Amino acid sequence: MRIHCTQCGGKARINKTNWFSNAAADLYCSCSDPECGHTFVMSLGFSHTISPSAKNVNDLVIALVKTMPPEKVKELHQMLTI
Ligand SMILES: [Zn+2]
Repeated sequence: MRIHCTQCGGKARINKTNWFSNAAADLYCSCSDPECGHTFVMSLGFSHTISPSAKNVNDLVIALVKTMPPEKVKELHQMLTI
């Protein structure tokens, strides 16, 4: 990940990452330009899913099927066994 200094726009370096969870962290950064020397904290956080994880597809399908009326579940089962 490339971080830019919020003051001069130069390259910045992440010196420390403070994770609050697996989806949020504070990034302690410093500008690489010695004439600037700005140090700052950026926030990193999960926003939203674009494509679900393949590891969770089975859970998603099961959750969806549980919301379907029984007759639709039977139809789905018949479609899958053909
Ligand atoms: Zn800077």
